[in-house]
Amino acid sequence: MEIIAISDVHGDLDFLPAIGESMAKADLVLISGDITNFGGRREMRDILAEMHRFNPHVFAVPGNCDGLAVNQYLVESKTDLHCRRVDFRDWTLLGFCSWLACPHVPQPVNAHDWVSSCLDWLTSQFPSDRPVIFVSHMPPANTAVDRNGDCHSGSREIREFIERTQPVLALSGHFHDSVGWDRLGKTTLVNPGAFRHGRYASILIHSDLCSFELLSV
Ligand SMILES: [Zn+2]
Ligand SMILES: [Zn+2]
Repeated sequence: MEIIAISDVHGDLDFLPAIGESMAKADLVLISGDITNFGGRREMRDILAEMHRFNPHVFAVPGNCDGLAVNQYLVESKTDLHCRRVDFRDWTLLGFCSWLACPHVPQPVNAHDWVSSCLDWLTSQFPSDRPVIFVSHMPPANTAVDRNGDCHSGSREIREFIERTQPVLALSGHFHDSVGWDRLGKTTLVNPGAFRHGRYASILIHSDLCSFELLSV
């Protein structure tokens, strides 16, 4: 299966036509957050419509620059991966956005509880017989994909989740300059970089093996 992975679009689709052919050839397009730039439902609807011109199979998690209305539109359009499981062909897709409440626990709870509720729920959804692709906006802590200037500013909880569950592939974004890849055990980590700057990744995944290219337009 071929995946086009993008992140941090921030409402800027200038580079979309340049990767349209690659998107159309791919089986799946995955977006790891900051799809709009503090936009709402209309912005999200327009962006998704543009992406669907090239590929009907688009799934996404929101980021910290996406409002609640963005998440609601993703849910309604059956594109949302935040704290959800989607079985796509032979793979299971799971996703997480640290800035959103967990849809599986009663409200109100604090943000720390949301994170652990989501990650516990996602752990419970790990199939025993299918490889998993995990998509989060925030990258795992202390890796090559969470550099924030001279610091590492990723999520310790997401790192522990990946170490414990070992998805085949974990896509993230958020730190626009931390383009790169790394490994945590059997999991390949990829931050494709900001699509608003023309960056994306092409990923080939076969059973539990994956290879990738970090690309820019
Ligand atoms: Zn961003
Ligand atoms: Zn962000």
